[in-house]
Amino acid sequence: MQDMLIQKIKPILERSKKAGWITEPDAMEILRVGGLDTTESTMAVNEEEAVAFAEKHGYPVVAKVVSPEIIHKSDVGGVVVGIDSEKKLRATFKRLSLLPGFTGAVVAEMARGIELIIGAKVDSQFGPVILLGIGGVGVEIYKDTAVRMAPLNEEDVSSMIAGIKGQQLIRGFRGSDPVDIGALTTLMIEFSDIVMELESYIDSVDLNPVICSGSRCVIADARMILKEKG
Ligand code: ADP
Ligand code: MG
Repeated sequence: MQDMLIQKIKPILERSKKAGWITEPDAMEILRVGGLDTTESTMAVNEEEAVAFAEKHGYPVVAKVVSPEIIHKSDVGGVVVGIDSEKKLRATFKRLSLLPGFTGAVVAEMARGIELIIGAKVDSQFGPVILLGIGGVGVEIYKDTAVRMAPLNEEDVSSMIAGIKGQQLIRGFRGSDPVDIGALTTLMIEFSDIVMELESYIDSVDLNPVICSGSRCVIADARMILKEKG
């Protein structure tokens, strides 16, 4: 069981070595292979592939640049949400393709709900530690997060939720639906297991955002930083 995930994702680890980190579509593929819920998406290398996905899935969609040179996509205008027509999708793809190091664009379903961040850092002393916080711009401003050592169990997750100030957002705030806490708990536990399996390869993982509603918690962006091999 242990090495199965590693075996399946070896090609991704190999091709990411040079850049030192794993881009969104590859990181999402690893999580999907590990059994986690990720946004339905495709890695489109040309306009026709982008349009084909949107037609099959239905508009609106999101389009995002994929480039080993671009680690924060929205900083460079590399994320466009709410694309509601073929014309806009084609224009967006053309624009994204001009960004440095462009290798393609992720075209994804639009997820709805509140944005959380779930992270992992492989600590040289403690091994993998897992972080939960409210996602979006708030992450850097409030630093409102809870951290526990992996592997997580249900009690860890419920005490992490209870430990962040933004827990009201998760539990339902001013008429907004409470998040599906069962789905969030399962996601965090399974994520911590995956991180433990990948421990010797990765330095850190960011799932930001994980978009949670009353019925689903889905990973909408992922980035994995590889360990420098000494
Ligand atoms: P980056 O973190 O590299 O800037 P993201 O993929 O996180 O790029 O996109 C930035 C923001 O765009 C997210 O925080 C979220 O608000 C929105 N977003 C990205 N993907 C989706 C999606 N599939 N559904 C809904 N919103 C999305
Ligand atoms: Mg992100």
